[in-house]
Amino acid sequence: MAANVCRSMLSHAATAVRGSPPVFPRMHTVTLIPGDGIGPEISAAVMRIFEAAKAPIEWEERNVRAIKGPGHAWTIPPDAKESMDKTKIGLKGPLMTPVGAGHPSMNLLLRKSFDLYANVRPCVSIAGYETPYADVDLVTIRENTEGEYSGIEHVIVDGVVLSIKLITENASRRVARYAFRYARSNGRSAVTAVHKANIMRMSDGLFLRTCREEARNFEDVNYYEMSLDTVCLGLVQDPSQFDVLVMPNLYGDILSDLCAGLIGGLGVTPSGNMGADGVAIFESVHGTAPDIAGLDKANPTALLLSGVMMLRHMGLHAHAQRIQTACYDTIQDRKVLTKDLGGNSRCSEFTDEICRRVQDI
Ligand code: ATP
Repeated sequence: MAANVCRSMLSHAATAVRGSPPVFPRMHTVTLIPGDGIGPEISAAVMRIFEAAKAPIEWEERNVRAIKGPGHAWTIPPDAKESMDKTKIGLKGPLMTPVGAGHPSMNLLLRKSFDLYANVRPCVSIAGYETPYADVDLVTIRENTEGEYSGIEHVIVDGVVLSIKLITENASRRVARYAFRYARSNGRSAVTAVHKANIMRMSDGLFLRTCREEARNFEDVNYYEMSLDTVCLGLVQDPSQFDVLVMPNLYGDILSDLCAGLIGGLGVTPSGNMGADGVAIFESVHGTAPDIAGLDKANPTALLLSGVMMLRHMGLHAHAQRIQTACYDTIQDRKVLTKDLGGNSRCSEFTDEICRRVQDI
């Protein structure tokens, strides 16, 4: 897709005061990766809502496909890389990974390309959207670069495969530090390190040791350690007991989806992948939903709330709060909901309703 910079915000960003020059809020450029399947529809919905909220964002749209770069290594297209290198912030819809031998996961490729080492998913119950628990308010923070995802595996002899779980002190420390900083700056009181150090004494043992060391630098945040199985049991019995959970990659993959299920599923759960120096890509973590693509039936909530996370990351708290309130109020009111949320409305009608509300806040 050709680069498409949407500057429509400028048209109404000016504060019209008779006799004084117009005041423009500082615009921030964000790389928008609409993605595949329902991605373009939900991205268009998010852009419309941001515009209605007068969020000072201009979008640089980039398509992302895996291509073969120098040395035949898989990489992302140069125009997408250049845009992210410049803007440092991305918002991404779902990406399809083509089926075929050796084709990399697009999500893994993006994480690798920008060294997005921490995946953050706030899971907060949504009033009016009935789930087994009404009081979930936790955040999963997943190490995003190593563990069982190191991609190091080989056949030893026919019928025997060795797969390496790689844990390093550096990667463990930076995600642990991120978790404590996140807790401190988001008014959260506890970080729990999730592990299986009783079995994987060296690898998870190293992860735990670095978490423990980092905890000493954050005495205002309570620190706990809990075995993965105990966390799973606790999450289905009483999720309200958890606050921030930090864990190695594979545990995070599984637990983060479990936690999304506690608040209503991947269609309503935001996500952000964080790197060094403020680089981040926020994304909807559901799939491309090819069965409803192009039918105006998709629910844009997950991408919208990921956009809200993005605005907070950029320090645009007032815009974030207004959009979140308009979205939550629309869901709570239950009059205009997409089918997956229990309603009969189209994606465009749900989007119209959020736009209407955001203009009134
Ligand atoms: P992929 O191959 O990209 O993973 P998938 O169809 O296997 O796609 P999902 O895209 O997660 O997996 O879809 C699972 C089901 O949930 C589908 O029926 C899909 O229509 C529905 N679904 C997923 N995301 C949404 C959404 N944002 N709004 C409405 N329905 C959705």
